[in-house]
Amino acid sequence: MNVHLKLETLGHFINGAAVADGARTQPVFNPASGQVVREVSLAARATVEQAIAVAAAAFPAWRDTPPLKRARIMFRFKDLLEQNASAIAELITEEHGKVFDDALGEFQRGVEVVEYACAAPQLLKGEHAKNVGPGIDSWSEFQPLGVVAGITPFNFPAMVPMWMFPMAIVCGNTFVLKPSERDPSAALLIAQIFKEAGLPDGVFNVVNGDKEAVDTLLTDPRVQALSFVGSTPIAEYVYQTGTKHGKRIQALGGAKNHAIVMPDADIDNAVSALMGAAYGSCGERCMAISVAVAVGDEVGDALVAKLKQRLAHLKVGPGTLPGMDMGPLVTRAHYEKVRGYVDLGVEEGAELVVDGRGLTVPGHEEGFFLGGCLFDRVLPSMRVYNEEIFGPVLCVVRVKSQEEAMALIDAHEYGNGTCIFTRDGEAARYFTDNIKVGMVGVNVPLPVPVAIHSFGGWKRSLFGDLYAYGPDSVRFYTRRKTVTQRWPAGGVRELAQFAFPSNG
Ligand code: NAD
Repeated sequence: MNVHLKLETLGHFINGAAVADGARTQPVFNPASGQVVREVSLAARATVEQAIAVAAAAFPAWRDTPPLKRARIMFRFKDLLEQNASAIAELITEEHGKVFDDALGEFQRGVEVVEYACAAPQLLKGEHAKNVGPGIDSWSEFQPLGVVAGITPFNFPAMVPMWMFPMAIVCGNTFVLKPSERDPSAALLIAQIFKEAGLPDGVFNVVNGDKEAVDTLLTDPRVQALSFVGSTPIAEYVYQTGTKHGKRIQALGGAKNHAIVMPDADIDNAVSALMGAAYGSCGERCMAISVAVAVGDEVGDALVAKLKQRLAHLKVGPGTLPGMDMGPLVTRAHYEKVRGYVDLGVEEGAELVVDGRGLTVPGHEEGFFLGGCLFDRVLPSMRVYNEEIFGPVLCVVRVKSQEEAMALIDAHEYGNGTCIFTRDGEAARYFTDNIKVGMVGVNVPLPVPVAIHSFGGWKRSLFGDLYAYGPDSVRFYTRRKTVTQRWPAGGVRELAQFAFPSNG
């Protein structure tokens, strides 16, 4: 007998309640089993417009809520998030595939942005100057924009949304989030938790969907600003379309992050760091190290030999199993794409030192598992070097000097993250001063800025001017208004002045 269990269909979260629309749906997979675990609705234009309308209606009251009261809701939100950490991390592992501890790690980095948002009264207090002219005072204040939107990628289903909406909302805006349709559950649970923390209905809304939802957010005149994180072609499209429609846009794109290993580096530490940074989360991180640049053949030989040894012990399996280092790739299509790049690297003539293509995980034969792969003698002319693979594939490039290594990095189209392994302070300082990359590590392989700084790459890794979270987010989610005022003493009659006002 065939038993067909009806799968749950995830809808949207609009005006503080779950909303379904009868539109299209898409399956959501558990990548460790390869099975469909639920369906997700792909919002029709009308559903997104409903969310925008609700957010617009909630804006006036939220804008006028004192920042301290907004911050108090953030404090409660942070507490409730922490109480629900395991449930959120389980959903991330189930739909994304990353190991449970890694899911907890991304969640924690998101919570840190909520902590930063608790400082809203301080962050929003503006600037004041007395007596800018005789009896004239002036101040600048940071006013919220109105309805703002966020569009996020699959690889951080909790953290990247939390880069955006806590700061936007605490600044007094209302928000529509469009998470990745590949792992939508964490965002819906977080929205529910935010409501329980006391957030008024309509201030934070989640619509699930694809291009139709994104295009609605990009073109609707009620949306004032939009934050995007995802691949570079879509980031560029979002930036161009959104700015054409008069919106403020920040669009963070893809990456190809290089780590330089200098001849004086502590090789064992560098190898440990590279293992985590290249293969953690199956390489599906925009800050993953995907290129190791060995300075000198001696370093190259040692690095490759030690990485090969370590890869033999890489534990690959379902993210729910304790002790695993790496889970599966997110979908069958992404698995095929990454595997295709490994085939391509071989065709292009790179030396495949470790081949993860044959891996099977017993009991999980239908899962999207690819073992860690290591290429040596990769050349800058190869596609495996130039393109973002976004999988567990590390390319080793051999060069003769630090200058040659830095020239390679500077010439690459992406400029998200990079790092140098060295014991030489002078070399490190020259690197941090001159490299054309937005986030730089010295013996730190994943230099992801903490919540009190801001996150953003250079070159084609970011379109727009302001970075995500941290101080830049206050500027991105507000607009400055400067008020200049004078209160003439009673009875004083002012004469018309035709010269430009100055203190000259
Ligand atoms: P993606 O670009 O495919 O999708 C991102 C978002 O855009 C999703 O919400 C998706 O629904 C939407 N989208 C997809 N195609 C669209 C289209 N044609 N029109 C309009 N919207 C569309 O990215 P992904 O595969 O989910 O995520 C991986 C990518 O994100 C990688 O390139 C990675 O480097 C990048 N990323 C960058 C950062 C960063 O901070 N720079 C952080 C995380 C991920």
